[in-house]
Amino acid sequence: MPRPIRATISLPALSHNLQVVRRHLEFARQHAKNNNKQEYKAPFVWAVIKANAYGHGLENAVRAFAQADGLALIDLNDAVRCRELGWHKKILMLEGFFEAADLPVLQQYNITSSVHHIDQIHMLEQMPAGNAIDVFLKINTGMNRLGFMPSDAAARFLDLLSLQQQGKLGSIGFMSHFACADGAIGAVDEPVSLMKQAINDLPGAISLCNSAATLRYPQLALSARESWVRPGICLYGASPFDTLHEQAGNFGLLPAMSLKAKLLSVQQIKKGQSVGYGATFTAEHDTRIGVVACGYADGYPRHAPTGTPVIINGIRSRLVGRVSMDMLTVDLDPVPDAREGDWVHLWGSEGPHIDEIAGYAGTISYELMCALAKRVPVEVIE
Ligand SMILES: *Cc1c(COP(=O)(O)O)cnc(C)c1O
Repeated sequence: MPRPIRATISLPALSHNLQVVRRHLEFARQHAKNNNKQEYKAPFVWAVIKANAYGHGLENAVRAFAQADGLALIDLNDAVRCRELGWHKKILMLEGFFEAADLPVLQQYNITSSVHHIDQIHMLEQMPAGNAIDVFLKINTGMNRLGFMPSDAAARFLDLLSLQQQGKLGSIGFMSHFACADGAIGAVDEPVSLMKQAINDLPGAISLCNSAATLRYPQLALSARESWVRPGICLYGASPFDTLHEQAGNFGLLPAMSLKAKLLSVQQIKKGQSVGYGATFTAEHDTRIGVVACGYADGYPRHAPTGTPVIINGIRSRLVGRVSMDMLTVDLDPVPDAREGDWVHLWGSEGPHIDEIAGYAGTISYELMCALAKRVPVEVIE
């Protein structure tokens, strides 16, 4: 028998969240139509499934995001795996290809690539004949990680155009990634204007918005051009924001990943006694402590402090003491009927929101999702 810990991945929740994104964009589109009488096409949606679909499993994501227009990821082997799983629509490599040997794979499997570095252009120039590859030219509008400077966009576009004329490339689009779409309102103004200047009258599709920009500035996804959004975290039911009015539930997003583990043991400790490594929690009165079969080696954050919420038998209680490798401890005083074998919901549909746990642990839900450990058995809800 596996340890009594389970992650649950809800495919209906993933599909629902994709629909939420579509409805959100459609609402913005109708709004624009009513206000400036301009008719935009509905933006296309890449479902971002990098990092094993943010810990939710590649295969689960491919099935649940069947209605997406494309999948976007980082690892070429994962892209090939998506094709083997039967994904026939577009696949975008967010960081492009890493070496010349990747190119025949892109050709064979019809995989779209971002192009962010001059070395990639040189590799494309040397590429043996094969199927034409669709590309997105990546422009650095202030993130300063990947991409060409806006002032180089036109020159690099001409490089790509020449490769297109040689039959090596198919369509050429443009993409950029925001550093602060989740930050202060207006933080996207400068990158947007840099992007506009960069691509000006160059033809091609455009892709700007991650989850934060899609949810907060959906009008940026509306363009006279073909336009693609790249939501990730919101598809998994978490919020990219840390504001009160922009929580995941306020957008109608449903948590797709849940984590629970059983009570292995119950300890009655006396006032003044402590629990766990470092004795970081000392009971202020006689307290019933539950020992839960989940630790940091399962992906529960070790930095979660005493007070981090858990839900037991529908009642909210709290973590106490330090999270250890295979166990954590909780306060059972609010749940007098809790017994060994009861499930403790650590996050997800029956637990606290993963964004809340991330907040307590001083991180973001992205990191918790990605850190779900391989050793945790996963149940998939169809
Ligand atoms: C990860 C990533 C996204 C998705 O970001 P979220 O904040 O999860 O929506 C979009 N675009 C690029 C280039 C990314 O690397």
